[in-house]
Amino acid sequence: MPSQWHMLTGEEVARMLAVDQSQGLGEKEAEARYREVGPNDLPRQQGVPLWQMFFNQFKDFMVLVLLAATAISGLLGEYADAVTIMLIVVFNAILGVLQEFRAEKSLAALQKLTAPEARVVRNGQEKKILAARLVPGDIVLLEAGDRVPADVRLLQTAQLEVEESILTGESLPVRKDPATTGSGVGERRNMVFMGTMVTRGRGRGIVVATGPATEMGQIARLLAGAQHEPTPLQRRLAQLGGYLVGFCLLICAAVVVLGVYRGEPLYNMFLAGVSLAVAAIPEGLPAIVTVVLAVGVQRMARRQAIVRKLPAVETLGCATVICADKTGTITQNKMQVRQVVTAGGSVAEITGQGYEPRGQLKFLRGRESRDWQLLMKAAALCNNAVLKRGGLSISGFFRGRAAGQYDGWQVQGDPTEGALLVMAARCGFWREKLVRPEEIVAELPFESERKRMTVLVREKTGLVAYTKGAPDVLLELCTHACRGEQIVPLTEDVKQQIMQQHSGMAAGALRVLAFAWRALPSADMELSPENVERQMVFLGMAGMYDPPRPQVGGAVALCRRAGIKTVMITGDHRLTAQAVAQEIGLMGRGDQILTGQELDRLPDHELSARAEKVSVYARVTPQHKLRIVRALQENGHVVAMTGDGVNDAPAVKKADIGIAMGQSGTDVTREAAGMVLADDDFSTIVAAVEEGRGIYDNIRKFIRYLLSCNVGEVLVMFVAVLAGLPLPLLPMQILWMNLVTDGLPAMALGMDPYDRDIMFRPPRHPRENIFTGGLGWRILGSGVLIAAGTLLVFALAWYQSKQLDLARTMAFNTLVFFQLFYVFSCRSEYHSIWEVGLTSNPYLLLAVAISAALQLLVNYVPLLQRLFHVVPLHPVQWGLVVAVTLLPLLLGTVYRTLQKRLKEKIMYLRV
Ligand code: ATP
Repeated sequence: MPSQWHMLTGEEVARMLAVDQSQGLGEKEAEARYREVGPNDLPRQQGVPLWQMFFNQFKDFMVLVLLAATAISGLLGEYADAVTIMLIVVFNAILGVLQEFRAEKSLAALQKLTAPEARVVRNGQEKKILAARLVPGDIVLLEAGDRVPADVRLLQTAQLEVEESILTGESLPVRKDPATTGSGVGERRNMVFMGTMVTRGRGRGIVVATGPATEMGQIARLLAGAQHEPTPLQRRLAQLGGYLVGFCLLICAAVVVLGVYRGEPLYNMFLAGVSLAVAAIPEGLPAIVTVVLAVGVQRMARRQAIVRKLPAVETLGCATVICADKTGTITQNKMQVRQVVTAGGSVAEITGQGYEPRGQLKFLRGRESRDWQLLMKAAALCNNAVLKRGGLSISGFFRGRAAGQYDGWQVQGDPTEGALLVMAARCGFWREKLVRPEEIVAELPFESERKRMTVLVREKTGLVAYTKGAPDVLLELCTHACRGEQIVPLTEDVKQQIMQQHSGMAAGALRVLAFAWRALPSADMELSPENVERQMVFLGMAGMYDPPRPQVGGAVALCRRAGIKTVMITGDHRLTAQAVAQEIGLMGRGDQILTGQELDRLPDHELSARAEKVSVYARVTPQHKLRIVRALQENGHVVAMTGDGVNDAPAVKKADIGIAMGQSGTDVTREAAGMVLADDDFSTIVAAVEEGRGIYDNIRKFIRYLLSCNVGEVLVMFVAVLAGLPLPLLPMQILWMNLVTDGLPAMALGMDPYDRDIMFRPPRHPRENIFTGGLGWRILGSGVLIAAGTLLVFALAWYQSKQLDLARTMAFNTLVFFQLFYVFSCRSEYHSIWEVGLTSNPYLLLAVAISAALQLLVNYVPLLQRLFHVVPLHPVQWGLVVAVTLLPLLLGTVYRTLQKRLKEKIMYLRV
């Protein structure tokens, strides 16, 4: 049956699916249908089950060798040792599963954050619902940039075009029309299909199939969801992991050979070597990196920045330029018309609260005449927004997105149009009183490139076009002007006058829209833009104010401190853009403004040179954005670029960090973007950059911790055999140490709060080596210190007591507590532990406390003492252990304090 829908009329489809075309389904009915047909989803890939994750932990080659060696020791009668080692290995695997499980959970949560939505009419009200909740019979609304959420039989369209390559392989958009049809999927012009993309226009239709019943579901091709490809850092770490494994194996082999050469039994040495390899290879690293990235991403989501692609997190920290759209991102997109100027020279001020249709109208010059009335009519009719109070809507047959609310009055749809609708209402012009819906016969929709929109209305005198758009664009389409009651030719003088008025309004940060009108000579002509939008009559202009978002000024200043350039991009007029840029402190000394026209004249290399100085691009189209991104990237910049409209997608994709709008954006841009701003706010981008920097910092912290500790462990064993000492640690001690130090503390370090001055540093280079800034040396230095301290304690105890168990117990505890204290030193590369605040990461305190408690259990529970071959220590011996292990922390603190004093002195001397 599903494939026959296109053969029926809209009415028949509505009847068969038992739905009222204007009211949509009722919520109860929709719920019942949902229960019957299930979610509007395509089958997804199943995750890895827990048991499989657990067994995957044992796939590691060294772990297998360890297990084999342990089994042999069991067969040789060393049951206790064998069981202990096995248990530790199992615990380690459980920890691994926990880490991986968390990583998967966090990634799955991300996918939920970006779940697609659809606009439907239910109970006569338009609302947004999760696309998965759509049911057959739902009335859906579509517009440019939407991904079609289900298979839909169209009822109404306006210039609707859909790109169906995902189904048909044909990449050119197809014009849709409720009245035409054909047999193949690609020829069914009165249908749109799940997964295809609306590239132009608007449409309204009935859902006829959902989920697996759709064309998409039937050919069982999966839609690409949010992608989680590894980040560059993860790739580099995987490579580093490979080197580390090789290096560890080499050293461990050397330890075994040397030990055997010194007379240790081969079997003991082999087990010790393998245990060391297992402990020293940082196998948890990839999982912890994923967890830290994913947890960071959740933290970002709480700050309204939703990451779609994990690599964006890393790149965010490297951003050197943020290019943001003016309207809606830098400003609030809550527009209010303040001034109206008619072509006849009347000037009026309009005031009022929010979207309240009552307000005050004051004529500063002139009075209401024909130009005023036509202008108001054009503003009300050439408009798809809906003004409504509470739940009661004043309807229009195509409705847009929810834009804002004030005192019970809300505007749905494009905020620019909303402002014009409110303006007209305040002046007594209501769309509902001017026309009946069926009298609006066609629409030439707004597009950023066209910078205008037209509706065609059937009036008593014939077909009439009402157009609104950018003043400079509209003036070009006009041959006449309506001055008072008369229509006169539009002379150059009049044009000049109008442009001057326009400049005056724009310089006051007003966004200016112009209006034009034309009585069409014949009703039978083809209603194309070329035929309709010509020889028009200019009516006048309306100037609206869109206040900047409150936090934008601060965010721009913060960017400057963080070495990030902010660039404003807008389709609006140069002067409006300049006024807004100055209001938020975006234009520094020597900063320039470039317009789309000027940009067109610049070849690429010149644009790159100019781009360094330009902080505002005005009157640009989405195509220009792509060139701007390229020019900046050419100069070595890491570019974050926002976008909302369907044509912004290429620029958003090309940018290093593509950012889409959550509220006003389109599905196309969202899918191209690495990040979505839930609140559309510029300052959220800056917050995300801060998070990006912080996450990278945290990854560096635990890499430093894990690698320093591993260097320490390997060195202890290696140097001991080199120096002819007995083995300082037994295999199970090595494995246990790995368990208590690498597990919880490393993870908690990944949750560390960020340094307060993280936004006072310049951006990091994206290809920067993870060990830059002295990290590599710090890892080696700390590793050597840890090894030296442990060996010192071991040698002292061994030479003094000649009791190997005692010396090993002391070495074992020294190495463990060294690491547990050292983790605090890793919390900042720039500040001492006191500046960071000991209690600012409670997870870390808890993790260290748990690890320390476990270590004490091994020391004091008799059974564990036997299993781990440890003996109780005397308080003096504990004193020595603690004194030595606290040393690096103390040294670090003293070093940082001295370093800071020195810096302050230098600064003081310079001043
Ligand atoms: P941004 O700052 O995000 O680029 P913008 O609205 O100025 O926002 P566009 O949406 O590309 O950029 O609009 C370009 C121009 O088209 C606007 O400056 C305005 O003159 C005109 N315009 C905007 N919205 C409409 C509309 N709904 N109908 C007619 N003309 C419009």
